[in-house]
Amino acid sequence: MMIPIRCFSCGQVVGDKWEEYNTRVNQNKEDSGKVLEDLKVSRYCCRRMLVSHVDLIDDVINYSRK
Ligand SMILES: [Zn+2]
Repeated sequence: MMIPIRCFSCGQVVGDKWEEYNTRVNQNKEDSGKVLEDLKVSRYCCRRMLVSHVDLIDDVINYSRK
């Protein structure tokens, strides 16, 4: 699905960091930890939001009703 807007544990906004994180880590093959530090995601509760996210919205949307 889409990345949650805020961290489940502390409430920091993480939704706006997904696009850059995904591009840099999965396309540019940069180190995940360094990208998270550049994005100023320091707490591990927020880091897990980005590291563990699987973007399924484009697959699931095919099964939605009109
Ligand atoms: Zn957090």
